[in-house]
Amino acid sequence: MGVLDIVVAVGLVALLLRALVRRGPTPGPLLLALVFGGLGLWRGFGPGPGWLLWPAVVLLTVTAGDFLLAARLNSRMPHTDSAEVKAELLTDCRSDGGRQQLTLAVAPGGAVMLDGVWRDAVRRDAVMVTAGCPVCLVEEVTAELAGPEAQALAAYRRDRAAGTNRLVVLSRRGDDWEAALEPVRASSKPFRPVDCPVHR
Ligand SMILES: [Zn+2]
Repeated sequence: MGVLDIVVAVGLVALLLRALVRRGPTPGPLLLALVFGGLGLWRGFGPGPGWLLWPAVVLLTVTAGDFLLAARLNSRMPHTDSAEVKAELLTDCRSDGGRQQLTLAVAPGGAVMLDGVWRDAVRRDAVMVTAGCPVCLVEEVTAELAGPEAQALAAYRRDRAAGTNRLVVLSRRGDDWEAALEPVRASSKPFRPVDCPVHR
């Protein structure tokens, strides 16, 4: 067994563990999984030890499953103009029967997660904005509800600029809203919009 086989085996096991720990709609490192899966198949079928086939096959299967799941979620997700989403959220958050809590985040693929807690309901939503920047949307809704001077807003911008994505949790306190930040459970790498002058 050569050095290459050891590297392939370690890479396969590491990627498999990562894929199993991080189940969910966030696809893992697709390219790495394909490269190591491919190397495992090649070594396993060909010149390397045959047992390399097994982790390679499992990794490729899990990766394909994650990818299909993410694609299905994405195709089911509503695609809406950013200004429209913002107006709807603000109207709801300012109405008596509206959300009592709103959790906002931009997923690594650019979708905006908007989890809401009403008095009698809890719902997880996500939208893909067709026009406008998703990061601006999160910042603008936070500024509108918690105020442009909210500490959490400044911290969100600072963390994002430093390369760490965050969830913004907005909670209703009487007539006012409070903002707080929470860590992102899946990938914390922030999404980079292509055409936003603020969030390059
Ligand atoms: Zn932006």
